[in-house]
Amino acid sequence: MPTPPAKSHGRLSIKATQKPRELLQSTPDIAGAWKAKVLTLYPEMFPGVLGHSLTGRALQEGRWGLEPIDIRLFARGKHRNVDDTPAGGGAGMVLRADVLGRAIDFADNGQRRDDWPLVYLSPRGKPFTQQMAQRFSKARGITLLCGRFEGVDERVLEARQVEEVSLGDFVLTGGEIAAQALIDAAVRLLPDVLGNAESIEAESFSSGLLEHPHYTRPAEWEGRSIPGVLTSGHHAKVAAWRQEQSEALTKSRRPDLWAAYQQRIKPKK
Ligand code: SAH
Repeated sequence: MPTPPAKSHGRLSIKATQKPRELLQSTPDIAGAWKAKVLTLYPEMFPGVLGHSLTGRALQEGRWGLEPIDIRLFARGKHRNVDDTPAGGGAGMVLRADVLGRAIDFADNGQRRDDWPLVYLSPRGKPFTQQMAQRFSKARGITLLCGRFEGVDERVLEARQVEEVSLGDFVLTGGEIAAQALIDAAVRLLPDVLGNAESIEAESFSSGLLEHPHYTRPAEWEGRSIPGVLTSGHHAKVAAWRQEQSEALTKSRRPDLWAAYQQRIKPKK
C-alpha cells in the first residue's frame, strides 16, 4: 500500500520562467506574500499566462506565490485512479472524493476559510465578480480546485465546505483556465502589483460602471480623430466627459449594472 506523500512532496512553488527544469525546484514561501495553491491534474499548465507581463514580474519578485499541487500524487492502489464512472450511469468520469479529500487536506494550512478561501471552479458556482476578486485578494491566499471530465464527487464539496465559483455561463474542459483568470484578477489588486492604484479605481466595475473609452496617439487615424475634450487640457471637462461616457455605456450595454448603480447613488427616501 503506497503511503501518502510527505508534506514535502507535490509542492512545486513556481517562479515565472519558461524552463520546465525549474518547475521541479521548490522555492520557499515568501513570508506574508499572498499565495495561490492550485489542485490540478495538470500542474505543468502553471504559471501559464500568469508567468508573463505584470503578474509574471510580480511572481518573480516574490510579491505573490504560486503552488500547483498534482492531484495524482494522492491517488492510491495499483492503478492510482483519480477518477471513476458516475454512480447511476451516464457519460464521462468523475474525480474521486477520497483522492481529492487527501489533496485538499495536504493543501490545508490551518487557516480559517475567511483568511484562506477554498474554491472549486465550476459552471454551477456563483458567478465570479470584481467584488469576489477583491475579497480573495484581501485574504492571505487561496486554494483552488480545478475539475476535469464531468466534475468532482459532490461529497468532497460538502465535507470540506468548498465554495463554488463560475467564470460564466459556458462550459470549459477543465478548471485551469478559470483558475488562472481568477488568480489574475486577484493578483492585480494586490498592493504593489500594478503599481498604479488610480488605474484600478477608475476601472470597470470598481465604481459600479463600465469604463469610459480610451484613446492614444496618433491624433488622427483612418480619418478618425480623438474627441476634442480629451486634448483640451481641461481636467474637469475631461472628468465630466468620462463620467457621461461611462454612464451611457453602462446604460446601453448592462442595464443590470445601471439599475444597481442608480439604486446606490439615489437611495430611496
Ligand atoms: N459536467 C459539468 C461540467 C464539467 S466541465 C457541468 O455540467 O456542470 C469540467 C471542469 O471544468 C469542471 O469540473 C470545472 O472545474 C471546469 N469548468 C467548466 N466550466 C467552468 C466555468 N464556467 N467556470 C469555472 N470552471 C469551469
